[in-house]
Amino acid sequence: MRVGIWGAGPAGASTALTLRQLEPAWEIVVAHRAATRSWQPGETLAPGAQALLRGLGLWERFLAGGHAQAAGTRAAWGSAEPYDNEYLFSAQGPGWHLNRPAFDAMLVEALRAAGIEIAAEAAGAFDFVADCTGRSAVYGVSRGARRIADDRLIAAGTVVAGSQPMACTYVEAQESGWWYSTPLPGNRYVRAWMTDPDLYRGGRESAETVLSACSQHLSPCVGEDWLAVGDAAAAFDPLSSQGIPRALRMGRIAAYTIRDAVSGVPGALTKYRRYIEAEYAHYRSAHRHFYRQENRWPDAPFWARRQQYEGDSNVQTAV
Ligand SMILES: Cc1cc2nc3c(=O)[nH]c(=O)nc-3n(C[C@H](O)[C@H](O)[C@H](O)COP(=O)(O)OP(=O)(O)OC[C@H]3O[C@@H](n4cnc5c(N)ncnc54)[C@H](O)[C@@H]3O)c2cc1C
Repeated sequence: MRVGIWGAGPAGASTALTLRQLEPAWEIVVAHRAATRSWQPGETLAPGAQALLRGLGLWERFLAGGHAQAAGTRAAWGSAEPYDNEYLFSAQGPGWHLNRPAFDAMLVEALRAAGIEIAAEAAGAFDFVADCTGRSAVYGVSRGARRIADDRLIAAGTVVAGSQPMACTYVEAQESGWWYSTPLPGNRYVRAWMTDPDLYRGGRESAETVLSACSQHLSPCVGEDWLAVGDAAAAFDPLSSQGIPRALRMGRIAAYTIRDAVSGVPGALTKYRRYIEAEYAHYRSAHRHFYRQENRWPDAPFWARRQQYEGDSNVQTAV
């Protein structure tokens, strides 16, 4: 059996490593293109990732990666008075401030160590393909699936070096969006402005990297001989801080699904699709609830748009 995995981020690495654990004799080819952006988002690893990294045999490598333990999040949301969500009391262990490029490089190294082939292109015929290409969902789109966005949130961010160390991740709601600042290992931090494209005042001369951060899902997220994993299947607002653990978890489930689908277990792909759809619906409901806690600027377009979601299919757009 020959399985192609497009993308070697958290979703691709988790799918490939789990499949290797399940079916050591299968040929697994991972098509890998390293991200080239100056700012690679995903700097905080929430508590709970530890169990996933252990299950993938990555925990010792992770600990050697120079990532820093995270204290938690401080948010001024719904009020100017900030409140703390401390990781210190999490039963799932600490959170981490990631060196994201080093984290992604560690994933590729672990794939190599597991004897998985890494290629620049996924060439040749495959019995099954996993699309793990992130928000672009390159493979799924090439197979006719559509990316559907529920909003237009963007992140305009920069990595700032040599300033005062920050104690924790900081989120602060403003009239036209919200600020997100988080420390990185090595006395640097990321500062990002989260807003809608028509409200963004940054110019071309700005040093900021602008990325999509919208809530989106792929429809459908499976085909007869492929499935999408991680952000390629559904991508969440960064406010959730769950992107990486979710991609690692979904990769584990995807690998079992691939094994079952290729072995002819009936309904394997339908079960996977329903899981993704149910998770996205649950996320959307939590997302609405959270944005509705901010009522200080009811007439400001950024917040007014986020009060109108429920039952409004007009806000959905193909990306
Ligand atoms: C502004 C912002 C802040 C965020 N902050 C956090 C955070 O603090 N914590 C957190 O957990 N999550 C965060 N996230 C979410 C997190 O980054 C993603 O959910 C997570 O990276 C998804 O993993 P993935 O493997 O699905 O996709 P990705 O990490 O996007 O990996 C996809 C990989 O596929 C590669 N690729 C693309 N096209 C191809 C191709 N054609 N062939 C081969 N390879 C290809 C890419 O180069 C990349 O290496 C944030 C997201 C945003 C937008």
